[in-house]
Amino acid sequence: TVKTRFAPSPTGYLHVGGARTALYSWLYAKKHQGDFVLRIEDTDRERSTDESVAAIFEGMEWLMLGHDEGPFYQTHRFDRYKEQIEALLEEGKAYRCYCSKERLEKLREEQQANKQNIGYDGHCRNLSADEQDTSKPHVIRFKNPLEGKVVFNDLIKGEIAVSNSELDDLIIARTDGTPTYNFTVVVDDLDMGISHVIRGDDHVNNTPRQINMIEALGSDVPKYAHVPMILGEDGKRLSKRHGAVGVMQYRDQGYLPQAVLNYLVRLGWSHGDQEVFSVEEMIEHFDLKDVNRAPSAFNTEKLNWLNQHYMKSLPTEEVMKHLQWHLGQAGLDLTQGPDIEKLIPAMAERVKTLKELVAAVHYFYEDYEAFDAKAAKKHLRPVAREPLELSQKKLSEQNDWSADKLHELVSATAEELELGMGKVGMPLRVAVTGSGMSPDLGITLEWIGKDRVLKRIDKALA
Ligand code: GLU
Repeated sequence: TVKTRFAPSPTGYLHVGGARTALYSWLYAKKHQGDFVLRIEDTDRERSTDESVAAIFEGMEWLMLGHDEGPFYQTHRFDRYKEQIEALLEEGKAYRCYCSKERLEKLREEQQANKQNIGYDGHCRNLSADEQDTSKPHVIRFKNPLEGKVVFNDLIKGEIAVSNSELDDLIIARTDGTPTYNFTVVVDDLDMGISHVIRGDDHVNNTPRQINMIEALGSDVPKYAHVPMILGEDGKRLSKRHGAVGVMQYRDQGYLPQAVLNYLVRLGWSHGDQEVFSVEEMIEHFDLKDVNRAPSAFNTEKLNWLNQHYMKSLPTEEVMKHLQWHLGQAGLDLTQGPDIEKLIPAMAERVKTLKELVAAVHYFYEDYEAFDAKAAKKHLRPVAREPLELSQKKLSEQNDWSADKLHELVSATAEELELGMGKVGMPLRVAVTGSGMSPDLGITLEWIGKDRVLKRIDKALA
């Protein structure tokens, strides 16, 4: 049976790279009717924070990547790691190392001078019990095999082989007895029954060592898949310099989780030339063998395109749930304008994100503060006095305040003045919304309401 895991270190928010790895892991489990484990790798107590743990949960929840087991915390498992370290010591598969910092430093310098990179030289590997005083400060090292090589078939990268002569004896417990990262991962992957380790390829160099330790602990080796990294649009490794990298920043910018998931699944994986995938389709078609070996570059335009697609195609209630959040963030009084579900079909063609949508509809709920400078310059300055005055007069006499009738009214005004529709409609639009972009003018006027429309035209004429 398949069991995968996502094992973030809680030292920051959930970034898009981590989220994509989590998604691939999650999809692989779902595809094979397996389980997905969430494990918090919080042994680095200086860098791990509760806020980061919360941010990871928040990101996973927003992306709807639920776990079947966990969350497990490595800091709750120290007794277990200790037990396994003892077991390795007893079986002679690990040893106490008493080498001083000075000796190790000297060793490093010598190797550097000789352009060697052997690492620890095994000085304490074969100390007999008599030669040791365990009350002296020491670390514990894993006895890496001296001969042969580690070969594994990475499900994305293909076969990887590393000679044991390149792997030195890794520290598995520090002087204070706390276990090190590579060891805790191994113990956890075994105890949790992980069948497929799907993770970022920044860990690929750890894998041969981890495999040796798994074998020493007497267990079957899981399968590995190392996912290439994500690059920014400029081809450099994705980082904060590129703008948003945290998953929740994408929410804040107005993206739907469905769009982000679709974007992430396609960032480094393909299924023919299909671009749009529901989660069900992702589960159906996802396979590790179709993950790119090369890194993939981020493409905001594509994300925008997908986001617009999902704004238009998801059930209104689903989009509304997210839109509501953004409207709340903007602090709009929603009782003072149209029902928000009307906004989505009216605006989805015109905006790429929910944030843009909110910015583009605020005038339905509150008076705008200033004209959009560009729109005003183009359509209202110098003020389009004639069309505005005549529109205002007709509007003030208009009783049937419905979009169709209002639309007719604007056409009639244009005809009367022998002007094109735009010469009347655009100044009116800018006058009542403060901006050059709004839904159909009839609808816009209807939703803003007679009182506010007339007042705003006054203001524009002043
Ligand atoms: N905790 C590691 C990280 O956040 C992941 C380790 C793993 O997946 O094996 O980079």
